[in-house]
Amino acid sequence: MNVTAPTGASQRPLSLSDLSANQLAARVSDLGAESYRVTQILDGAWRSVATSWSGVTTLGKPLQERLANEIRFSAFDEIERQEAEDGATTKLLLTLSDGAKVEAVLMRSPADPRRGSGPRATVCVSSQAGCAVGCPFCATGELGFTRNLSAGEIQDQVRVARQILRTEDRELTNVVYMGMGEPLQNIDAVFASIDGLTDPARGGIGQRRITVSTSGVVPGIERLAKQRPQITLAVSLHAARNPLRDLLVPLNRKWPVEAVISAADSHSRATGRRTTYEVTMIDGINDRAEDSAALASLLRGSGAHVNLIPMNAVAHTPWQESKPERIEQIANQLRAAGLTVTVRRNRGREAGAACGQLAAEKAGAPTPIAVARRRELLVAASAAALQGQRTAQPIAPSGPLGGEA
Ligand code: SAH
Ligand code: SF4
Repeated sequence: MNVTAPTGASQRPLSLSDLSANQLAARVSDLGAESYRVTQILDGAWRSVATSWSGVTTLGKPLQERLANEIRFSAFDEIERQEAEDGATTKLLLTLSDGAKVEAVLMRSPADPRRGSGPRATVCVSSQAGCAVGCPFCATGELGFTRNLSAGEIQDQVRVARQILRTEDRELTNVVYMGMGEPLQNIDAVFASIDGLTDPARGGIGQRRITVSTSGVVPGIERLAKQRPQITLAVSLHAARNPLRDLLVPLNRKWPVEAVISAADSHSRATGRRTTYEVTMIDGINDRAEDSAALASLLRGSGAHVNLIPMNAVAHTPWQESKPERIEQIANQLRAAGLTVTVRRNRGREAGAACGQLAAEKAGAPTPIAVARRRELLVAASAAALQGQRTAQPIAPSGPLGGEA
């Protein structure tokens, strides 16, 4: 059978979750096994806590051994687990078959009777190892880009989360593509992973319980609206005006604020779903009076939901999170403009990460000189952006893959 590995992935056998239902059926038949084995395999992978073929006892030893030679049971060679926030958050550092490392975060919250919602468990998954967008407040952006994840590598992050929850007698309720990477720059694998995760044989999560977060890849937002209209769209806005958004989200030079908002509005009209805008709150950078006024007037009347996220400190920036009182003022200003607003406490902060920080730590810190130089560049660039000047070039990362050190 001709199944190719994703570009850049190792030449080792494909993992189970990289096979579609038809591909898996063909492999099972190639091995001379009966077709009902496919159901046993998927049940073993998605409805048990087995971590290897030998744990799928229904298959019997000879078939377990044949499968182990042909197909990797998991996409991960190693899983490192860190608990935080009294067990409410589990951070997973996952080593892929070529040694690349990505993170997934599992977040549990209790039932909220006031809202009529039951207990929730959300897994935040990575779509790429590193990220090419390079937002200067983001630890993943600082790492630079390593490679796209395959659909199976994305799905297996959810599988590991489900297995952890099973041991606690809890159910997974939501999946968010908000870990490392820009999902809409790896859109084919992201869509294939959504198709896998919504397959009843592989957990069968409802499409409406899945959120894809993007830094503003306009053609990707258009494809999402057309091809996966049930998925919730989250847009990382961070600033309402172009000079500042150029600095905070370098992709803004290609798709500026107006283009992103217009694509999100079309998505919302076409799908009937409300857009969520994420704004990482950075002290003195995007929380000034003129910034919040511009944000309120940009989104007024859109019916959107705005999520204000205090910035997690990262080593390579001189920036800090906004003051809690200032975030509350901005939240009220946005509410007065008719928006629904939530203020997010950063899950995973105790374990050392919001977005890629754990993997950044493992990749080795950039040299102090590189960090100091980048901080200087950011101070100069933010001074220009705050005065409304647009610059042509983004600032290159100083991280281990950035090559500046
Ligand atoms: N690349 C996508 C999804 C992954 S990032 C995107 O940018 O939307 C997920 C969210 O984490 C984004 O809203 C991003 O802005 C936010 N984030 C990244 N670094 C952060 C930090 N240091 N503190 C707080 N939020 C951060
Ligand atoms: Fe990439 Fe998102 Fe981080 Fe920006 S915030 S560098 S798009 S992961």
